[in-house]
Amino acid sequence: MAADSFDFPAALAKALADPQIAGNFKSALGGLRGKRLALFADPAELARLRATGKALKGRTLSRLPELLVQLEANCTRNGIRVHWAETTEEANRIVLSILRAHGADTVVKGKSMVSEEMGLNHFLEEHGVTPVETDLGEFIIQLAHQPPSHITAPALHMNRKQVAELFSKCIPDTPYTEDVLELNAIARRVLREKFRTAKAGLSGVNFAVAETGSLVLVENEGNGRMSTHCPDVHIALMGLEKVVEKLEHLPPLMRLLTGSATGQLLSTYVNVVSGPRGPHELDGPREVHLVILDNGRSNMFQDAELSGSLRCIRCGACLNNCPVYSRLGGHAYGSVYPGPIGSVITPQMEGLDAKGDLSFASSLCGACEEVCPVMIPLARHLRRIRSECEAAPGQGLVRGRGAKRCAVKTLGWRLWAFVERRPWLRERLLALAARLTGRWTPAVGPLAAWSQARTLPKLARKSLRQRVREEGVRHG
Ligand code: SF4
Repeated sequence: MAADSFDFPAALAKALADPQIAGNFKSALGGLRGKRLALFADPAELARLRATGKALKGRTLSRLPELLVQLEANCTRNGIRVHWAETTEEANRIVLSILRAHGADTVVKGKSMVSEEMGLNHFLEEHGVTPVETDLGEFIIQLAHQPPSHITAPALHMNRKQVAELFSKCIPDTPYTEDVLELNAIARRVLREKFRTAKAGLSGVNFAVAETGSLVLVENEGNGRMSTHCPDVHIALMGLEKVVEKLEHLPPLMRLLTGSATGQLLSTYVNVVSGPRGPHELDGPREVHLVILDNGRSNMFQDAELSGSLRCIRCGACLNNCPVYSRLGGHAYGSVYPGPIGSVITPQMEGLDAKGDLSFASSLCGACEEVCPVMIPLARHLRRIRSECEAAPGQGLVRGRGAKRCAVKTLGWRLWAFVERRPWLRERLLALAARLTGRWTPAVGPLAAWSQARTLPKLARKSLRQRVREEGVRHG
């Protein structure tokens, strides 16, 4: 989705008018929340685990440049070819050049949010390469020509009936069925042949271990293993924040990731790729490439406060617990990363003028940061992005700082400051407001949208200061 074509208010209105979205998300997210709660039943243990996760990712961030250099050196020693991409365009070109060098006209893909961030499928199709999504959720939305609506469950917006209709319409010789096992079997039948014949496979990376030069992939369907081991070439894509220091740091991070995402103690598959097939090995890729993407992350890293968002392990728990995301679904955000974490990182990646509005898609209730396994202060970050949107233009680190600055609002805040510095004036204005409020709700001009969902409260006749002056303070 092109950044400049995104109309957030229109997307919001569309999502709110669709009862199916609310219904599908309500039941799916309720299930995910329940499983997480059941797994982390002991609050004290969860608190310790989250503190460990925060400390491990924080330690990694404090040494990020050095660890990335170490990762590159150890991957190279293992035979993994490392490529650096500053932008998504650069990353797309690197992937295409590897595919072309191997004459690959089809690539089987395990789940990769970075590839979504790059718009890789669209780019490859434009250049004559067919990407085949092999994660079931990604397979479904590729058939439906839709973007993902959730970080870990891309087809969460669709129910079983919708998937059944899609399969019978888009996959040749497929009878209509709503049976989940049969639907899985249909997808497996289509994909097995692709795994068998594709020359190249692609995957994301959940953790990249600097100490050993290993790429770790967490998944439940086995498609990640097939994508990375069946074809001759494996291309792994990662954002530069995915590096971790040591192998021994993985157990707590994996426990937090799978527990927060799906309520699992451990995912069904954990793949550790530490290089291409050895001379005496019978399977595995003959070439492994690692593409490390920046796309604005270095900029985030330089900001002492917002760099905390680089701790994210993409578990999706903040989405599952966000009342705004639950009601809107993922597509309304117009972003690869929806929900609270998306509203923090997307404006930083794509700029405030294009995506700054996303930071307002939150009630700031704090439910997201209460469940975040690495304790990212999401509500604080959202407030910071909001203030960046309307800050005085200058040399701020967030691209597009001040892009949403509005003369009327600025004047409003100045007037408020003027009044607050003059108690006598504030008293008189409050007395006037007390007489007016409760009689009518402003529904014109900029207040019209505000009053659509709110009722103006009636102010007390006398302010607290006035009552204290007249009645004194009663003790006891
Ligand atoms: S911000 Fe926290 S809860 Fe949200 S996806 Fe990232 S790690 Fe998970």
